[in-house]
Amino acid sequence: MDYTEGRGWHDPRIVPYGPISHDPAAMIFHYGQAVFEGMKAFRTVSGEIALFRPEQNAKRLQRSSERLSIPTIDEAFVVEAIRTLVSLDKIWVPAKKGSSLYIRPFVIATEAMLGVRPSAQYSFIVIMSPVDAYYEEGLHPVNILVESYYARAVLGGTGNAKVAGNYAGSLKAQTLAKEHDCAQVLWLDAIEKKYLEEVGSMNVFFKIGGEVVTPSLSGSILDGITRSSIIHLLRNWGIPVTERKVSIDEIVQAHADGTLEEAYGTGTAAVVSPIGSLLWNGNRMEINGGQTGELVERLYLEITGIQEGTRPDQFGWLTYCE
Ligand code: PMP
Repeated sequence: MDYTEGRGWHDPRIVPYGPISHDPAAMIFHYGQAVFEGMKAFRTVSGEIALFRPEQNAKRLQRSSERLSIPTIDEAFVVEAIRTLVSLDKIWVPAKKGSSLYIRPFVIATEAMLGVRPSAQYSFIVIMSPVDAYYEEGLHPVNILVESYYARAVLGGTGNAKVAGNYAGSLKAQTLAKEHDCAQVLWLDAIEKKYLEEVGSMNVFFKIGGEVVTPSLSGSILDGITRSSIIHLLRNWGIPVTERKVSIDEIVQAHADGTLEEAYGTGTAAVVSPIGSLLWNGNRMEINGGQTGELVERLYLEITGIQEGTRPDQFGWLTYCE
């Protein structure tokens, strides 16, 4: 679907997958007006196809668009467009346990114009691809590098928006993490380099002395849909979760005291990912003996159970496609 100033969003259409061409002066190539989402469709055990909380992705796409001065798209339209597309292509939603159809909606600036101002033309595009389960053989704890120099996103900058530029800026630190045998980076806040933000493409949770904590949404942390689902589930189970500032010093102290019980990341790709160790200032802090914790396992089974239809969808998180 395209947007033209004065005309609004128009011409929704479904076309065969293939390359798209744009003028070399298209503003996306120069000024980075690009926002995106990541979500999944699942084939439930009863054979129906379900999307997981797609209205949340549509809302976040709107918030990200607003931040980049991109005209927003009606939330219901986005959900309906994705439902239609998935319904047409349901053959691509794998039946294998844990597998899913990954869906990537995005908006880019297409006007051919060199000059820094919002584009007058955009395209909204949705592409999809089947993906295997993130964890084929059960959860597997990962090593994480706590990044002290680079910042992912800045409050007042593009902060919590899901914009392409935030990911471009994260690649350098991601490469460094790999060199240290770490799967991802744990970002600290950009200003004090003290408070934890998130892990690569996941939000982060800790269990410290029996209390579950997660960094409060600071304005530069992505408002993860898995994060909000996990907070909801934990509270529903009667397990309190505190959203507050969590400093790296607190984590180091809890590790030294032996009260750091579990750590895990949360996101659409992996659902939950146990953290086996944190590398900070050259010291590797092992968590839970490098093993998957009980709580993370329970959360994983519950969310994947809801997604595959083996556990009740008691919060109405699934949207079915025809
Ligand atoms: N933080 C970042 C930076 C991410 O890219 C993602 C993945 N979208 C997340 C957190 C987790 O968000 P969600 O649970 O909505 O996938």
